[in-house]
Amino acid sequence: MRVGSPASRSTPGALRVTFCGVRGSTPAPGADFLRYGGHTSCVAISRDARAPQLLLDAGTGITEVTPLLGGAPFTGSILLGHLHWDHTHGIPFFAGGREATRIDVYLPEQGESAESVLERCFSPPHFPIVPSQLGPGWSFAGLAEGEHEIDGFRVLALEIPHKGGRAFGYRVSDGESSVAYLSDHSPTALGPGADGLGERHDAAMALAGGADVLIHDAQHLASQFPSVDFLGHASVEYGVALAREAGVRILVLFHHDPQRTDDEIDDIERRARELAGGDLEVRAAYQGLTLELTGSDQKGAPRGTAVRQL
Ligand SMILES: [Zn+2]
Ligand SMILES: [Zn+2]
Repeated sequence: MRVGSPASRSTPGALRVTFCGVRGSTPAPGADFLRYGGHTSCVAISRDARAPQLLLDAGTGITEVTPLLGGAPFTGSILLGHLHWDHTHGIPFFAGGREATRIDVYLPEQGESAESVLERCFSPPHFPIVPSQLGPGWSFAGLAEGEHEIDGFRVLALEIPHKGGRAFGYRVSDGESSVAYLSDHSPTALGPGADGLGERHDAAMALAGGADVLIHDAQHLASQFPSVDFLGHASVEYGVALAREAGVRILVLFHHDPQRTDDEIDDIERRARELAGGDLEVRAAYQGLTLELTGSDQKGAPRGTAVRQL
C-alpha cells in the first residue's frame, strides 16, 4: 500500500496526520500484510495545507513521506521517540531529505551528543555512512522533557516506560487540535494498575488527556501477558482503557506486531471497538490512513475539533 495524497488536498488551517509506517519491531513484507502495510513507525504531520513539516519517528515508513512533498525537499523536524531500529532505520533512505536545507532531528537527551548516539546506529562497519554524511541540512539535538515550540507546533515531550533506552511520548498541537503519540509503551513496568493492564501513570495521562487523537502501542493483546512483559510494550486493551480515562476522541491502534496478519488486525480492531463503546472511536492504523483535524472555528464540530478521514 502506498501513501500518496498530495498535501494540496488538505484544508487550510487543518492539522493533518498521515500514517506512513505502522509496524513495530521490524518490517512485515508479504501477502498477509498488504492492507495494513509493512513499514515500521513513521507519522507525518502538516498544517495549513502544506507538505509535512514534522515527522514522528523515522522507521522505514519515512520513505512514504517523499511522495507527500510534491517534489520539493523536506524542510522541518523529525522527533524520535527513542532509538530502536524500527524508529530510525529509514533515516538514510529518506530521498526527500537528501537535498534538504534544514532537517532538525530531535531525540530524547541521552547524556552525550545526539549525533554520536546516532553514529552508533549509522557508522561502518554496521552501515556505510555516518549521520554527518546525510546532507548539509541535517542537524541533531537532544530534547529535554517539557514543552517545546518546534516548527510552529507546540510539542510536549515526556518520558514513558519502554525497554532498552530512554523513550519519550509526544503530544503535538497546533493550538486547536492535538495528537498524542505513545508508540512504544510499557505501562506494566510501573505496575499492574487497578485492572492488571498497566499503570495509567502521570506522563501517559498528561500526554493523552483530552487529545483529539491518541496513537498508541498496540503490539500485544492482554491475553499474551505476562509472558510478553519483557518486550516492553502495551496491550490493545490498555490503549482502550487509557483513551477512555483520558477523554480521548479517537484511538489509533499503532505499532502492530510484525507477525499480525491483516485479518488478525481486522479482528483486533473489531474487538477494541466493542471494548471502547461510548464516544471513543477506534481505528487500527494502516499505511496511508490520513486524518485531518480542523480546529474550533469549525461550526458544529463536537468538542471543538472536526476530524475527517481522507
Ligand atoms: Zn518500536
Ligand atoms: Zn522500541
